Amino acid sequence: MALLSRTVIERTKGAVPRNSTIAAELLAPAGLLPPAQVLSWRLTGWQHDGDHLRLNVDSPTGGLAVLVGPLSEVDGAFLRTDDWNIAYRDGAFSAQVPELLSEIGLRLQRTTRALGLNAAGIAAQWFVRPSQDDVLEVSPGKKLYVRVTDHCDEKCLFCNATEGNSNIIESKQKLTQILRGLPTGQLSQVIFSGGEPTLVKALPELVALAYERGSRQIIIQTNGVGLARPGALEAYLPFQDRLGIGFSLHATQAELSALMLDHSDVQRFDAKLVAIDRAVELGFLVKITCVVMKPNLAQVPDFARWVWQRWGAGIARLQFSYAMPRGNAWLNQHLLLKFSDCVEPFAQAYAMGREVGLRVETSQSACVPPCVMPDWIDHYDIYGDFGGGRVPDPERVKPPEICGGCNWNRICAGVWQRYIDVYGTSELQPIVDRPEPVVDIEDFLEAEVLDLTDC
Ligand code: SF4
Repeated sequence: MALLSRTVIERTKGAVPRNSTIAAELLAPAGLLPPAQVLSWRLTGWQHDGDHLRLNVDSPTGGLAVLVGPLSEVDGAFLRTDDWNIAYRDGAFSAQVPELLSEIGLRLQRTTRALGLNAAGIAAQWFVRPSQDDVLEVSPGKKLYVRVTDHCDEKCLFCNATEGNSNIIESKQKLTQILRGLPTGQLSQVIFSGGEPTLVKALPELVALAYERGSRQIIIQTNGVGLARPGALEAYLPFQDRLGIGFSLHATQAELSALMLDHSDVQRFDAKLVAIDRAVELGFLVKITCVVMKPNLAQVPDFARWVWQRWGAGIARLQFSYAMPRGNAWLNQHLLLKFSDCVEPFAQAYAMGREVGLRVETSQSACVPPCVMPDWIDHYDIYGDFGGGRVPDPERVKPPEICGGCNWNRICAGVWQRYIDVYGTSELQPIVDRPEPVVDIEDFLEAEVLDLTDC
């Protein structure tokens, strides 16, 4: 069986400005922080695109944007000071524009000289794009995944975290700092994940910090084994009113579960059941996630029945996830399913859930696309806004010739390009005969990342 050791995919996220630092160290001392006045111009706002600072200015005769950046001969500029390039765009040239640009250049030059910065220093201070370790990605639905470790004590053949996992912060000190600075009001969920988060001894302390910061909902995603130890779950009881525990469980017996792993699962499987039993008994909000590949596909309806018989209403939701073609799943393509293979077993499980009152669903982003199972759209956990052809990551696409005319484009996360490369697009059918379902969608944050240097 193939397993991938962790590799980091170079991500092409937009630059993340160190906004608070720029405002405090540069713009305010230079008198360029809106709503400052520069000659007859008023500063109305500013942005950072990674390479330039954009200062928006307005005057009675019209507005424009002044672009400033560290001195560079290759970057176009209207004028250059010793250490700065100054340019403008999005406005008409007038006799006042050169005066404005000169004055801004003068103020910037004076300020950075006082700080002892030359062009290289300016670039290093405010224009270097942060490394991946400096940012946290916020996922659709305003969910923040905090991956407290990259290690895992299981080797799932479908694990996608082995390829380009983001938000891995293994230093306890850094985690504490991040959690203390969380803009929790802007997030719907803080999700502790990994690797396997319960391998981190300090996890209860970290959950406590997120709880104290007022996180609306905190989730621990776990294989459950570590929570079977006596007293392990009890450590989380103080946070129970806002804490959910998502257990991964993929079969009703250890033998079948082992076909989804790269090792035997007998003792570990029993431990998972002990942990879920106890979590239900203690009254935690419990979700079970079952990732589906060829070995366990046929068992999906029985698995749903078994979950209901064993835990009944103690399970808040049972989620079946399509194993996305990345990481280990991509290396084990012989276990991957066609979307259409999933339709019948998933539909039977959904129907069973409806009958007994168990929420059986699929995640919006790890799913068979909605157009493949349009009659079951109310079994999709829809939380992110993918309108305008957006997709949650660069690995997915929405073929415009199909998805462009689909009424459900906004609620659909798209299809993995790798899937299309293997199976094509013949299963996709734009939804044109029904409207978008009524759902409460949390849109992306304005920025897709949190700058940790601002926390
Ligand atoms: S047609 Fe495209 S946008 Fe519509 S549900 Fe299918 S994959 Fe998604």
